[in-house]
Amino acid sequence: MGNQAPPTLQQLAIKGLLREEALAISALEVMPWMLLPAMFEVAFKNRQTNVLRAMVPIWPFPCLPVGALIKTPHLETLKALLDGLDAFTTQMACSRKGKVRVLDLTTTDTHFWSIWAGNYEGDCSQQVVRHEQPMETCHDPGMKNNLKVVTDLKLVDNDTKDYANHLAQWAQQRKGSIHLCCLKLQIWESCISNVIEILKSVDLHCIRELHLRDLWIDDMAAFGPYLGQMRNLHTLVLEGITNTFRMDESQGLEEEWISTLLSQFPKFHCLQHLYINDIYLLVGCMREWLRSLKKPLETLSITYCHLSQEDLDHLPQCLNLSELRHLHLNSVFLDEWLGPLGLLLERVKATLQDLELEKCWLEDSQFRMLLPALSQCSQLTKVNFIDNNLSLPLLMQLLHNIAKLSKLTQELYPAPLECYDHRGLVLVDQFDQLCPELLSIIMRKRKPRKVTFATRQCYKCFNHSIYELESRHCLCWQ
Ligand SMILES: [Zn+2]
Ligand SMILES: [Zn+2]
Repeated sequence: MGNQAPPTLQQLAIKGLLREEALAISALEVMPWMLLPAMFEVAFKNRQTNVLRAMVPIWPFPCLPVGALIKTPHLETLKALLDGLDAFTTQMACSRKGKVRVLDLTTTDTHFWSIWAGNYEGDCSQQVVRHEQPMETCHDPGMKNNLKVVTDLKLVDNDTKDYANHLAQWAQQRKGSIHLCCLKLQIWESCISNVIEILKSVDLHCIRELHLRDLWIDDMAAFGPYLGQMRNLHTLVLEGITNTFRMDESQGLEEEWISTLLSQFPKFHCLQHLYINDIYLLVGCMREWLRSLKKPLETLSITYCHLSQEDLDHLPQCLNLSELRHLHLNSVFLDEWLGPLGLLLERVKATLQDLELEKCWLEDSQFRMLLPALSQCSQLTKVNFIDNNLSLPLLMQLLHNIAKLSKLTQELYPAPLECYDHRGLVLVDQFDQLCPELLSIIMRKRKPRKVTFATRQCYKCFNHSIYELESRHCLCWQ
């Protein structure tokens, strides 16, 4: 059903009723329950907070999956929903009694709403049955008779902070009766005392994903006790932990933070995905980081970091990396000897699905050490080697090795060094001639799905020349 379809009688009736708010609210007492979702959706879109406040206590399902309707968080709407929950618990609402147990602010499942708005075209019986049951997102035996608010929390900008603060404060005041279940927590450049308040009001066991970005090293130690309680964390993203300029003092703080963080790692029994981006403190500490983990990782992503030879040497020995599926080392400064990385690839050849070594500026002599293991990684679906300094003979050898890997669906390779003149400018004729030759090496073995050859960024126009079955040159040649 397109946007052009004329409104149904039901939609017209709801729209008309909502024009008279007081009338709409009094009609809630007698309205057939199956009309409530459609009415809620329209009232939500109109931000008619009085109507929403009155509807929560009479909501006829255990779950109110309002998250699917939220485009941008709106504080007044949130307040109305929470007021509605309060009215439900204190039984101050109208004589009609609802069933709500879970206010879900996260879901992206929009089926619920399309079923009740009458424009869902699939089999709706399944969906309805599912929403008859309270959503099980966390194991929380102590809270059986109470209400749960499921949410992702962002402390990213002023709007998200106000929203998160209000929710946290509200939950804090009702701690015995409300379970604030935060699945994903993102903290960027935040005031640390504010963050601690939020951490106090959510159940830390429920957090599955934690993103910490652009924080000062001084603030990190304060996180320690809270991190250790996140026993169900499966994804940890650490980005750009910044040093203050008090160099003399910061040395001690760095060590304190690293040892605090690493002492919490063994408690993350579920951690599977570790993303480390732009953490200068990582260099020389890889052994300590990985040794602290208690479970094999599925994803190890290290970007904009420096790995020393000592760090690299440790990778193939680490038992926690033996089942890796995703290995990303983009924009990583790697030391000369890549033998250990070859050994790591050898170890994970049965599980590795995606390998990214973009912008590592590796030379032939380094990359050659990866080739034997690479050709055995039979599960690979994606490789990205763009922005490495590889010659035509080495690329040919690489493609011969990789042509056998039949599961690859996405392949990105650097244009060979032979495509540049002595100033580093692209020789377009060479590029246009060599890329199809390279591609044909793969095509002799299998039909490639998506293969890209890219030059490095042109220093005049800042674009790349790209070959994907046909060439697209940088702007200098158009
Ligand atoms: Zn929970
Ligand atoms: Zn250019």
